[in-house]
Amino acid sequence: MLSDNDLAVDSYCLLVLKKVNINNHDMKTFYLVIVLFVFSYSHVVGRIKNGYESELQCAKTSLQKLNLLLVEDKNMTVIQRLDVKSNIEALINYISFYEITAALIEELRIVSPGIYNEIDSIKDKKGRPTDVYVKVVPRENSKVQLKAASFFERRSMDEDMNVSTYGDYSVSVDIWMVENALFLLSHELGHIKYIVPNLAEYLKFYEKKYKRPEVSISFVGHNPKDQSGKYANDFERRYLQDRKSYLYNGGEKAERLVSRLIRIRKDLRNGNGVVSASALESNYSF
Ligand SMILES: [Zn+2]
Repeated sequence: MLSDNDLAVDSYCLLVLKKVNINNHDMKTFYLVIVLFVFSYSHVVGRIKNGYESELQCAKTSLQKLNLLLVEDKNMTVIQRLDVKSNIEALINYISFYEITAALIEELRIVSPGIYNEIDSIKDKKGRPTDVYVKVVPRENSKVQLKAASFFERRSMDEDMNVSTYGDYSVSVDIWMVENALFLLSHELGHIKYIVPNLAEYLKFYEKKYKRPEVSISFVGHNPKDQSGKYANDFERRYLQDRKSYLYNGGEKAERLVSRLIRIRKDLRNGNGVVSASALESNYSF
């Protein structure tokens, strides 16, 4: 079945083909069509994405400006300086967690490429690519008191469309900043693997099995008949097997997250804004 996105891409392609003989006026249209095509194409490719990405450039620019302000503005009061420093810390924190998340995603790609590629190209029931936004979060910022949680929602007008706070055709995962974060992520990606293409059916199951006061939040996703729970356990096993093979074949252990975080923060405080994201070189929740 053709999805809305497929139709959009097809119609842009058709427009491009129609503009073979172009004059100046049509040239503009042609470029516009190309640009629209590129944007549309990027939208049809679902991806594992870093949940901090959208504000990253803004955070980096703001950090540079505030650091400069602190050095150059000699007229600031003590209170103003403290305020600027507190903002700098918040920005360093944001960028650090972007880097930690980027490293975790990269580690998944290297250690467990099978899982990575399956989720990186996941589609909903109608064949529409769906983005998976991942965030490593400090425990105190966690939306739910679980070390790992995936969030799913649907639109009332389209029961197969996954939506999240990141927009249409997306789901999100939050993982606490803990040393087995990648193992927890693989578990959550198992839930996602099943739920994204079975959203409507799964949410009916969810309402029936979990929307009861006696059901503990930690049990959600793991009723014996829950297919997503089976996928989650299967992805855990696959990840452990992949990790074993990776290390057996000489792969390096990743730097501990806590050490990485300390190093990144130190770099940022020393004014080294660009930090490597490379992993190995150096409202429903489940
Ligand atoms: Zn689970």
